[in-house]
Amino acid sequence: MSRSGNGRLAIGGGRPVLQRNDYRNWPVIGADERRLVNEVLDSGIVAGGTAPQVAALEREWAAYVGTKYCLTTHSGTAALHMSLAAVGVGPGDEIITSAFTFLASASCALHQNAIPVFVDIDPRTYNMDPAKLEAAINERTKAIIPVHIQGLPADMDPIMAIAKKHNLYVIEDACQAHGAIYKGRKVGSIGHIGTFSLNNMKNLCGGEGGLFNTNDETFLKKGTLVRCFGDEVDEVSHRRIYNASILGYMYRNQELPAALARAQLLHLDEYNDCRIRNANYLSRELGKIPGVIPPYCPPDCKHVYWMYNIRLDPKSAGVHSEPRRFRIAVEKALYKEGMLIGQWQTMPVPAQDLFQSRLGYGGSHYPWSVNEAKGIKYNYSVDQYPVAKALCDNYTVVHGIAAPNGLDLMDKIVAAFQKVFAHLDEAIDHADDAVYPGADGKLYGTG
Ligand SMILES: *Cc1c(COP(=O)(O)O)cnc(C)c1O
Repeated sequence: MSRSGNGRLAIGGGRPVLQRNDYRNWPVIGADERRLVNEVLDSGIVAGGTAPQVAALEREWAAYVGTKYCLTTHSGTAALHMSLAAVGVGPGDEIITSAFTFLASASCALHQNAIPVFVDIDPRTYNMDPAKLEAAINERTKAIIPVHIQGLPADMDPIMAIAKKHNLYVIEDACQAHGAIYKGRKVGSIGHIGTFSLNNMKNLCGGEGGLFNTNDETFLKKGTLVRCFGDEVDEVSHRRIYNASILGYMYRNQELPAALARAQLLHLDEYNDCRIRNANYLSRELGKIPGVIPPYCPPDCKHVYWMYNIRLDPKSAGVHSEPRRFRIAVEKALYKEGMLIGQWQTMPVPAQDLFQSRLGYGGSHYPWSVNEAKGIKYNYSVDQYPVAKALCDNYTVVHGIAAPNGLDLMDKIVAAFQKVFAHLDEAIDHADDAVYPGADGKLYGTG
């Protein structure tokens, strides 16, 4: 008999708990977005490194994060690459990041001809485990890229202390954590440089775009050069003189994304509060269901829930099933109940083919070959990251916690969980069904 009284699971032919139109899409577009985008159209200025919207976004974001300077760029990935170039990373240098993140936290090192090294994660926060950081440092290490994963600040105090001891740069990958706070400080203001993404899915959205924050004038100047071909600007005339002094790229942002991001920034705290309210509600209610493990947030941090992550544990749910298979069975059953649910990363980043094959530039094995020629070996065997590996077996993401969704949707999500967890044997019977859980792209404004 069903505890929730909802009858058969939808995956077995019953009625689903949710409909797609229970979910409302991100980003929220309102009067401020129309006003600022119209300002661009009325001005006739659509681009430029110091154009009005770009310059205003840089001022406003520096003030919000609490850094002296900010540069905007066309993606979070570009901001990360600019950061490594700005601190002087070069061929053969090693860059340390977390094993559970998005690829760009590591591929930015390859773009600067450096070699990514991964550190396993803390089993409670899913952020880089500072206790495992020092073992990854050697004489080739140049920088550490902690990632504030899914909106939760990484444990920056021990990371900064270790970096100081070894004379390393810290580039925060805050692409998922706009507005998150670590011990009273906004993320992106703690390391030498902080980076953010403005892509359509992120807590602060410009369509596409990125942000680079620093308190250091040297990094600001280097970042400015790298963003625009390495081209020098004449100090007296303020004109570009088409004399590249260093190797740069074309990483400028433009006025329409900057205007959209400025409008979203006016609502960032309100939208983050909405995510937090939804997440706390889910954590309280789902936490009552044996086998569901809600996300953890340390008391001295503000988590901004870019993604709402849960783990599924067959043992506490009282069923005999291998953890990965159990997670898949529950995902499929909830998806058929109408929920948008499914994994984000499916494996630790070092498990991806790019690192397993190390083909590099043009299949040449560069940049790894720089150090391999000196007898240094690189091994990305996934067994070195057991905590990230176990997480990727049994975590999933409950989508739909962003504004303007509220507790009415959260209630339906809780009801779907209660129904599926009252029929776990039936759900497990359908574990091999051809069902493909995940989010509808429109939920994140991706069309
Ligand atoms: C989104 C993201 C990036 C890259 O941002 P883009 O703007 O998409 O280039 C980098 N790192 C992390 C952790 C991200 O989530």
